[in-house]
Amino acid sequence: MRTHVGEVLALFREHGELSRTEVIDLSGLSRSTVNQRLGALHDAGLITEIGGGESTGGRPSSRFALNRSRAVILTADIGATGFVAAVCDLAGEPLRHTSRAVNVWEGPHPVLSLVDEAFDELLDGEEVWGIGVGVPGPVEFAAGRVVNPPIMTGWDRFDIAGWFAPRGAPVVVENDANSRAVAEARVRRHDNLISLKVGTGIGSGLVFNNSIIRGGEGAAGDIGHTRAAIADSADGLPCRCGNTGCVEAYASGWALIRDLELDGREVVDVAGVVALVRQADLGAVRLVRQAGRILGDAVADLVSILNPETIVISGQLAECGEVLLSGVRERVYQRSQPLATRNLVIGVSDLGEVAGVTGLALITVDRILATAAIDDLLERVDGAAAEPGLSRA
Ligand SMILES: [Zn+2]
Repeated sequence: MRTHVGEVLALFREHGELSRTEVIDLSGLSRSTVNQRLGALHDAGLITEIGGGESTGGRPSSRFALNRSRAVILTADIGATGFVAAVCDLAGEPLRHTSRAVNVWEGPHPVLSLVDEAFDELLDGEEVWGIGVGVPGPVEFAAGRVVNPPIMTGWDRFDIAGWFAPRGAPVVVENDANSRAVAEARVRRHDNLISLKVGTGIGSGLVFNNSIIRGGEGAAGDIGHTRAAIADSADGLPCRCGNTGCVEAYASGWALIRDLELDGREVVDVAGVVALVRQADLGAVRLVRQAGRILGDAVADLVSILNPETIVISGQLAECGEVLLSGVRERVYQRSQPLATRNLVIGVSDLGEVAGVTGLALITVDRILATAAIDDLLERVDGAAAEPGLSRA
């Protein structure tokens, strides 16, 4: 009966508001099938009827749209030294958000307890349909677990989905750079995009042909632990992953804190590095420019291999703006073929601190409203919709 209603719902997620006739045209389905599917989606409260569409035979016909406030998605974007938690609507927009400072290396129990507290504080009686959790480490996406994360002590293979199981909604665990890449791609409507997250560590998310490139195990895009061009095999600096000569060991927040301390500055966190750059501290500016060049060398390799249209940088170090960007641009344009950089845009994210939670909400909604998953969802929420019956105009 409800089979493939997900296909019709996907049209609303992609196109926004649609009339019955537009659904028929876009889907290629018959009018009676479309009526049946719109009816099922409307009964479940997944679409709402909006008055005042195009006129057919003198009578105004209805338009429909995704009912984005039908339920909410809980999201937590966990970074190395804190997290942003949010309640998002079904279109991925954060309705309310909050942040907390906590070190991820304290382990899953203290961090996830704080996330739970934040969720309870943010919820306002809404029905929760999904939970998205972003982590700063490699994620085996199918299993929803982090695997051998360099900075996440105690998190290796921890069952994050199991932790949130009492909330009774599907849980998606995603790498933080991937979730930001999806937010940038969907909100800015850019495809073929590389998202760099530069905070305490360095990660990258790749969205090409509207899909995240995960690779076989979900480990794709770990640019922070590729070899820095500046490192030579004899004396590569030690990285927190156990290797030497990684990009992170030269260009990340933790590497800059190390270098500034060696230079006699009192810097305890990445915010301190950004503050020094804003004060035009010459040593800090020189180091961040150099970090930009090292990042640029690493990204230039990706540009040559993948030919992205956009490179967007987020994370706390992105607040250094041009000081960081100029080095990235310099190396990317120097080292890439002109065709690969002809229309390339390199910039800083303007989504701010909600970039991660926005992407997590979108990825979670993708999963729960996928054509293959929608029947399960409709079973779960059956009869819960408060909307009156659908007119058959
Ligand atoms: Zn490393």
